[in-house]
Amino acid sequence: MDPAHALPSDPPFALRARLLTSLAGGGLRYEPDAQIEVDGRGRLTRVEPWSERTDAGVVDLRPWLVMPGLVDLHAHLPQLPNAGVGAGLDLLTWLERYIFPLERNFDVPTAQLIAPAAFRAFARAGTTTVVAYGALWADSLDACFRAAEAHGIRAVIGKVMMDRLSYDTDRDPTEVLDLSLRQSVDLCRRWHGRDDGRLMYAFTPRFAVSCSAEMLRASAAAAAEAGAYWQTHLSEDRGEIAEVRRLFPDAVDYTDVYDRAGGLSSRAILAHAIHLSDREVGRLAESGAVIAHCPSSNLFLASGAMPLARYLAGGIRVGLGSDVAAGPDTPLFSVMRAGAYTQNALRAAGLSDAPPLSPADWLRLGTLGGAEALGLEDRIGSVEEGKEADLILVDPSVTLPLEGIGADHDERSDEMLSRLIFRAHPAMVRGAWVRGRLLPA
Ligand SMILES: [Zn+2]
Repeated sequence: MDPAHALPSDPPFALRARLLTSLAGGGLRYEPDAQIEVDGRGRLTRVEPWSERTDAGVVDLRPWLVMPGLVDLHAHLPQLPNAGVGAGLDLLTWLERYIFPLERNFDVPTAQLIAPAAFRAFARAGTTTVVAYGALWADSLDACFRAAEAHGIRAVIGKVMMDRLSYDTDRDPTEVLDLSLRQSVDLCRRWHGRDDGRLMYAFTPRFAVSCSAEMLRASAAAAAEAGAYWQTHLSEDRGEIAEVRRLFPDAVDYTDVYDRAGGLSSRAILAHAIHLSDREVGRLAESGAVIAHCPSSNLFLASGAMPLARYLAGGIRVGLGSDVAAGPDTPLFSVMRAGAYTQNALRAAGLSDAPPLSPADWLRLGTLGGAEALGLEDRIGSVEEGKEADLILVDPSVTLPLEGIGADHDERSDEMLSRLIFRAHPAMVRGAWVRGRLLPA
């Protein structure tokens, strides 16, 4: 059953709905009938059980569910058109065949077409914060930021940096480092912190295979100086790891390549990190660097099964990433499902004896975990008073196995959440707001 009211498009507003959120202090909060108020600046001023004395003007969205917006820590804007194609290829072959051609052609007109559509797709999937790579071209990255600015999504974006094995075959390789660094610094100056921190910059050396030690070092130094993020890929695929060993013979391991460059800090977002030694786990935990766990991508490219439980026990900070297009799924609910299956497969194969993560654990990774990874946990990641109203509206009835036939336990938060993850449906997200502003979807 659909609520009778249209969704409010701008703050201030007050909602009546079901509420399901992780809490900063731990645990999960479920209110079957809640009142959620957002002030004119887009902040949550009241989150409490419904009481009849509430004023008029409340938008009644029952039986739908308000949840925190999802935080996607890893995606590639130029790659979205090829999501889901290339099954059966390994990482390096897939990049050459399906990805580098898209990125090479990601000029300004293409970015003006793809980036707005990508942000609408993220909003439709319930993602209110996305951390994304662009392509090599500075002007197309500007176009991505302009699209994010207009759309309203919260975004961390970076121009890809590569000074070897690059798809930029026109430029003299000796100029690339200086030019790429200068363009990145310039983009960071222009966009990092824009709109009171809604838009942020990430220096983005692609990965160690396509970056010299000097590029890694210079980008990490520039990110530290600007207080911006630094994002790259780590230890995704066995072929890639062997190539890194060949290119960086002095490094102890793959993680050490980034450590020597000064890249490991609490502002570092490392995608994948599947095949880590105990030394690497310890070093990443100590550095505060974040892993963007991308299980859909890891299964699609058969890169491996990340031992999440081992990393969490080792103290590494972890959030979730779609990694579209290596991950076929934009919605993080589907990514949670792939992650849960990955952990079950590790247990079934006798490779992990850790207890399974609960649906609530997965929700936390995709919301507060991502917010903490970005150092934004005081602003977003849960529906709590004082935070900014990055919210999504979900219709759980879409996930029922039989249309219109629910069971008593569908009123229970843990079982409802289990269905949202294991029967995630493209139509279940009915709205997404950032700071109380409704996102085009
Ligand atoms: Zn990636």
